[in-house]
Amino acid sequence: MPTALITGITGQDGAYLSKFLLQRGYAVHGLLRRSASADVIGERLRWLGVLDRVTLHDGDLVDLSSVLRIVQAVQPDEVYNLAAQSFVHASWQQPLLTGTVTGLGNVIMLEAVRIARPQARFYQASSSEMFGKIQQSVQTERTPFYPRSPYAVAKLYAHWMTVNYRESFGLYTSSGILFNHESPLRGIEFVTRKITDGVARIKLGLARELTLGNLEAKRDWGHAADYVRAMWLMLQQDQPDDYVVATGRSTSIAEFCAMAFGQVGLDWREYVRTDAGLLRPAEVQVLHGDASKARERLGWAPSMTLEEMVAEMVDADLARHRARISVVQPTGASLRPAQA
Ligand code: NDP
Ligand code: GDP
Repeated sequence: MPTALITGITGQDGAYLSKFLLQRGYAVHGLLRRSASADVIGERLRWLGVLDRVTLHDGDLVDLSSVLRIVQAVQPDEVYNLAAQSFVHASWQQPLLTGTVTGLGNVIMLEAVRIARPQARFYQASSSEMFGKIQQSVQTERTPFYPRSPYAVAKLYAHWMTVNYRESFGLYTSSGILFNHESPLRGIEFVTRKITDGVARIKLGLARELTLGNLEAKRDWGHAADYVRAMWLMLQQDQPDDYVVATGRSTSIAEFCAMAFGQVGLDWREYVRTDAGLLRPAEVQVLHGDASKARERLGWAPSMTLEEMVAEMVDADLARHRARISVVQPTGASLRPAQA
């Protein structure tokens, strides 16, 4: 039975990757950092029905001793380094933490592998944010990077360290330059989930409006379940390498709003307002990936359209809020849908 170790197992991708690997007969282990809110840890794994099937180990990515002990104990065949301070907006408020976890944390993991399990295959969660102020209209593995946030700078450091450990020590280290990917398990602070959650609240009469920042920015959005499959495929190749993973379709925040509100029969322009306080100090205006290399070498292609993903996310948020309403107000007497 192959063994995988996942950092960031409690996050969106960690949960989908766990499910994917379990379906392929892996023993799945994860790094779990201590939290005072232990009762809500593992919600995403529970949502996908796999919490009881993974083995969680106490540790923190920035604590080499805990990481090293876990790698020694688990002896993984594959290591997926997904843990990060992953929210771009927060990285301007917490640049040192972001640099430590998102940047240096990668090297801590690489060191643990080099010392305790050098034959393991290593995946680094790199990001399209590294392209930042884009140098080519469509981004590939050969497009020069121009990071625009402390998050992106930290990811770029981790990306090059992953390449460097491959070239310096002959470790099997691959890096996936993944464009934005979403799902019902996306963190609520990211714009897609913030929108689908807002749509559900407004539809159910729990909110009147949704406040966003830059509506003109464009992203190349795919589904997390498709993207974790690409991660795994990268580690099944004879040679380690770097791959862009994207859908090749770029959509604005405004267009995403139109799709999500349209899903419940509402016109987004009646409910969305903007607040300059949500604009970023430096914006990544547009991202548009070309995943030809992943398609040709890995046989990877996305299976889900943006429209299908938006529908799934809106439905999930409606179901979550309906479940909360039924707990708070069993009769639902005073809670009426916005368009009732
Ligand atoms: P999430 O924010 O959902 O998950 C981040 C994970 O990292 C959580 O499990 C979190 O744990 C964990 N973590 C944070 N700090 C530490 C720490 N000090 N020690 C141990 N664990 C820690 O991210 P996603 O699942 O969306 O993304 C996975 C990875 O892919 C991230 O590295 C992200 O930057 C990168 N990426 C994501 C993209 C996307 O569109 N989703 C695009 C490109 C790259 P806890 O639950 O305790 O907070
Ligand atoms: P990112 O691409 O990793 O930064 O993912 P986000 O989902 O956080 O942001 C995607 C884009 O949406 C960025 O260009 C943001 O400026 C834009 N955006 C507009 N309004 C909002 C908002 O209210 N929240 C977030 N998170 N992003 C917003």
